[in-house]
Amino acid sequence: MSTDQERWSKVQNRLRAEVGEDVYTNWFARMNMEAIEEGTVRLSVPTRFLKSWIQSHYAERVLACWQAEEDKVNRIELTVRSAVLRTVVAKPKGNEFDGIGANGHVFNGAAVRPNGAGDSGLHEALGGSPLDPRLTFDTFVVGRSNTLAHAAAKQVAAAKRGDPVMFNPLYIHAGVGLGKTHLLQAITWTGNAIGERKVLYLTAEKFMYGFVSALRTQTALAFKEALRGIGVLVIDDLQFLQGKSTQAEFCHTLNALIDAGRQVIIASDRPPSDLESLDERVRSRLAGGLVVEMGSLGEELRFEILKARVNAARVHHPGFDVPVNVLGYIAKTVTHNGRDLEGAVNRLLAHNKLTGHPVTMEMAEREVRDLIRPQEPRRVKIEDIQRVVARQYNVSRSDLLSSRRTANVVRPRQVAMYLAKTLTLRSLPEIGRRFGGRDHTTVLHAVRKIENLVGNDMALAEEIEILKRQLQE
Ligand code: ADP
Ligand code: MG
Repeated sequence: MSTDQERWSKVQNRLRAEVGEDVYTNWFARMNMEAIEEGTVRLSVPTRFLKSWIQSHYAERVLACWQAEEDKVNRIELTVRSAVLRTVVAKPKGNEFDGIGANGHVFNGAAVRPNGAGDSGLHEALGGSPLDPRLTFDTFVVGRSNTLAHAAAKQVAAAKRGDPVMFNPLYIHAGVGLGKTHLLQAITWTGNAIGERKVLYLTAEKFMYGFVSALRTQTALAFKEALRGIGVLVIDDLQFLQGKSTQAEFCHTLNALIDAGRQVIIASDRPPSDLESLDERVRSRLAGGLVVEMGSLGEELRFEILKARVNAARVHHPGFDVPVNVLGYIAKTVTHNGRDLEGAVNRLLAHNKLTGHPVTMEMAEREVRDLIRPQEPRRVKIEDIQRVVARQYNVSRSDLLSSRRTANVVRPRQVAMYLAKTLTLRSLPEIGRRFGGRDHTTVLHAVRKIENLVGNDMALAEEIEILKRQLQE
């Protein structure tokens, strides 16, 4: 290492200490020293944007750091390096690495490699959420309720840069513990292992507190630069995204990424139309890609998941054995979700390890007793209510949503609103919106009206009972 290079690494260390690791990685990791001539230090960065950013925000800092090491330095000259080199490398459209890649060797050792330590650097700088190494496609069991979501996830994970983006965003929704996070992390692992596109996995919470605040301290240009590094953005638990300005940032990010042909993948516990706190424009953008629901885990799928879990545990605990009838029993009785299945296996394992007793039916019955919950009532959707009510009264669903006020439409509409209020957790304004954009007072009026009527009208009361049963079975 030449003495100039030695000095440069001291300056880098100084700079890193002053601005902090994150800022350093964002702005200086790709800065090289080209030469020192007289009192002028020539530094280079890979993009024009980085150059102007560093010039306007950090020029004095950088100079001061140099002067601390070498007092004869009085000027910093910043250039955009090797435009020539970059053009000779055939760059596929939409290259995320912007000059770092095939010719990565021209940059310093800290350069981001498509699939190296640099990846996690960016992941962290942008506030990526931690990943669980067990949540991969290999450990994801496919069954009837998740076939489509799994296929879409696989497709998206394997896509290469420049491939046409098939569904954007890919929006996966399902209740708690049905495998959303598992699928999203599997996409992230796979995508990053292939190394074609950087995949950034964020919980909505991380998006709010990490990503957004990091962006706020930067300019619109910096925002673009940060986004440029992302090939695939994965956001988990979108239902937790809150706050008007966060949503504006989210909308902005979503639009910027989708318009640039980057893949966006989202998971939530409800469909886009039910994300009440989100702006209508965002909701429709979310619904504009592929929306897939994962249903509850069927008994067969639960059995397979249990088997897979036990096998995974056996890698570390070879003596752990669960008889098939016990697996069958748990699959039958622990119906709630994947988390409870995991909990059940953990308990059997713990019991087995701690007492040394083999797993038997009797022990299983005792251990998982409290995981056996009464069957959850089915999640009733407003669409289903509208469909079932329309069929019952022989009108169309669009009649229910329309502004028509003829008696044959008004009553069914009121019944449907009443059912929406009693069978779902939706608020009055939300229900109004889902019924052709009506006011919440209209919904309230309908609910009261039907409540009064069922008290006196036995036939109507019975009709409503039948509708309820149809919806909940
Ligand atoms: P969600 O994010 O939808 O609440 P998770 O992805 O956290 O659910 O899943 C909860 C647990 O169930 C995890 O341990 C997960 O590995 C497991 N699980 C859910 N679905 C499957 C599946 N299809 N195959 C294997 N494990 C699953
Ligand atoms: Mg989750």
